[in-house]
Amino acid sequence: ATPTALLTGTGRGAQLGILIKGPAVLEDTRRVDTIVLDKTGTVTTGRLTVEHVEAFEDVECGQTRLLRLAAAVEHASEHPIAWAIARTQPSPATVEHFASAPGGGVRGLVVEPFSEQGGAGHMVVVGREEWLGASGVDVDDETRLSLAAAERDGATAVLVAVDGRVAGLVTLRDAVKPGAADAIARLRRLGLTPVLLTGDNAHSARYVAEQVGIDAERVHAGVSPAEKVAVVERLQVGGATVAMAGDGVNDAAALAQADLGLAMGSGTDVAIDAADITLMGHHLGQVADAVELSRRTLGIIR
Ligand code: ADP
Ligand code: MG
Repeated sequence: ATPTALLTGTGRGAQLGILIKGPAVLEDTRRVDTIVLDKTGTVTTGRLTVEHVEAFEDVECGQTRLLRLAAAVEHASEHPIAWAIARTQPSPATVEHFASAPGGGVRGLVVEPFSEQGGAGHMVVVGREEWLGASGVDVDDETRLSLAAAERDGATAVLVAVDGRVAGLVTLRDAVKPGAADAIARLRRLGLTPVLLTGDNAHSARYVAEQVGIDAERVHAGVSPAEKVAVVERLQVGGATVAMAGDGVNDAAALAQADLGLAMGSGTDVAIDAADITLMGHHLGQVADAVELSRRTLGIIR
């Protein structure tokens, strides 16, 4: 490939809103045969809405308070789930000792301005069962059942713990991006096998996969950021040349591991830094555009 032709290719990419980090990236783009897609924010809009708040009866924390405490902690996170929950409370309480785990959740000491305790604060943990466990909160079978029930028909649910006990859960809903199914069909026609990869639950993952035409056996749900890397590696060991598209902090390592990393322009800086290509149009049609562009560019000069 002549440098001039490759530069023309990256220039044309920029015009299409496909920002390619260097001319050599086009070679990798042309070779990919597998496209691993992150679910939240990549296949789906990532603009979740809070659908339901459930306060467990045996804990003294009503729905309104539960959501207020969860929102306070989520204000410090940039995860799509966090935005959805934080948005419900315009003036959040102060949070101290904030901590978060990509693909896990958040926690912090919420200090309510007018609390009876005189501002002692409450330790609030929001997220997956594993994250609650890591934060010293026990999750029992009854809670697991409530969680599974909340996750029916494609919803995402996160647990909320207050002062060491699970107090309830928040159910959220996301929508598949318009045109996602068409884009995936196009990628298939270009010879790429689509794979879905998500830290979210299996119900929600399968629901989305079905809507966009990804085979059930190519869905990996409930995976941590490290496991996302392992899935990409396993595909590579199996002989695949892997492109991965993602948007989150939780995707960065997998984007770097992939033969070609594509970040949504709407994504976090960490993902954009780890990727070879940034898609400024934020939609999957641009992944197909990038593959076509590379093939056209390299076809001409062959
Ligand atoms: P995805 O792979 O779909 O983008 P993530 O790996 O970012 O999802 O997150 C996986 C799961 O971890 C979420 O479905 C949620 O249960 C939990 N989680 C991650 N970040 C947060 C957060 N800020 N608040 C609550 N839960 C979170
Ligand atoms: Mg994501």
